[in-house]
Amino acid sequence: MPSPTDEGTAPTPEQRRHAPATPFGTPRTGGELQASLTSIRDTFSSRHHSLDFAYSHAHYLRNRVLAVGVIFVLLTPLWALVDAVMLPAELLRTTLAGRAALMIGLIGVLALAKVSRERIGRIRLSAGLLLALPALFYALVLLLLPAGETERLAGYAFIPFLLVAALSVFPFTILESLTAGLAMLWLLVFAQTIDGSWLTPAGFEGLWLLTSLLAVSLAANHFQLSLLMRVYRQATHDPLTGLFNRGALKLHLDKLQTWRQEAQSGGSLPACAVLMMDIDHFKQINDTHGHSVGDLVLAEFARVLVSQTRAEDCVARYGGEEFVILLVNTDAHRACEVAERIRRAVAQHHFPDHDHRHVPVTTSVGVALIGDVESAEDALKRADSALYRAKEAGRNRVMAAE
Ligand code: GH3
Ligand code: MG
Ligand code: MG
Repeated sequence: MPSPTDEGTAPTPEQRRHAPATPFGTPRTGGELQASLTSIRDTFSSRHHSLDFAYSHAHYLRNRVLAVGVIFVLLTPLWALVDAVMLPAELLRTTLAGRAALMIGLIGVLALAKVSRERIGRIRLSAGLLLALPALFYALVLLLLPAGETERLAGYAFIPFLLVAALSVFPFTILESLTAGLAMLWLLVFAQTIDGSWLTPAGFEGLWLLTSLLAVSLAANHFQLSLLMRVYRQATHDPLTGLFNRGALKLHLDKLQTWRQEAQSGGSLPACAVLMMDIDHFKQINDTHGHSVGDLVLAEFARVLVSQTRAEDCVARYGGEEFVILLVNTDAHRACEVAERIRRAVAQHHFPDHDHRHVPVTTSVGVALIGDVESAEDALKRADSALYRAKEAGRNRVMAAE
């Protein structure tokens, strides 16, 4: 059983090991109250982020790359005007060639981010390149300019400071920003060894300023990422059970559709199934034990569902006491087995009331395999009809859709 944890966090290492590449992450059930929404562990690195949050995060990062990339592209030629005023013709040629290369590189980064909508790795790469290219340009100008000429440069020494300040604009993890920040500190030291300010009071002042700026950017990253996680969780998870909510389920159904179409064009259509569950006579539980016990039952029921599914399956609260599970890479026979296992697990599970007395709970389940040319939404409707038949047939049973 997964332990209570933060928003957007990952399956256990054990679950992760068994999880093939699928379109879903796994929500954790329960633990809402214990969840520390500003945990350093979750903002330090992306290691503990669920795949689902990683997609949301990457989407947000991509928007920032596109916005900041456009600003950098516009600033680059403008800055050349300053060079034109400050530099003699032979140096101007070098910096202009460098700026042209930088401009092409930045446009390439923008194009990469533009075409990388669902590609987390590529989006991260484009963000890294966006910061690395201006730094590289500065390092090359310092290397190529004749000794003693660097004091003619106006605005260049500002580049490491600008880039460290820019770190705060992106929802980077602390580890990512720290790596970039240390690279910028190295760049500043390199510039100081060239202009002779290394180990001078002015040099120390520059290093101190950049370090302070980096600390502020790291704090901004932490708060930005925490906020993003909190908003993500509120938008996609049901607060009572910790499961995906109906809105997130809709997104997962769309994602599943795209994933299957891509797999189909690659020559193999993965079998996927939908389970729809409804707790039997739940109104009676509320009426007999009170709504607060009803809520306890719902949260406990969600834990049972998570314990009976794999990390790559999507478990969602569809509405009141109705739940949906999307089973990836699962054929009809296996889906019915899982549904029957869940039905049995619920019937045998100890659902306690406030005094730890047992509340008997059963569930009815409708199962539908997603057809080859059928949408996941339509399969969900068939699972719902099968559930209705399970109720009519006496409840506490599994019924497969035609
Ligand atoms: P059936 O076996 O036919 O499904 O009967 P049922 O009593 O489970 O179904 P019905 O639709 O009559 O009742 C569902 C009840 O679930 C009614 C509603 O008050 C209750 N409910 C919905 N959401 C919540 C919730 O978040 N907490 C609690 N405690 N009850 C809820
Ligand atoms: Mg119902
Ligand atoms: Mg019910």
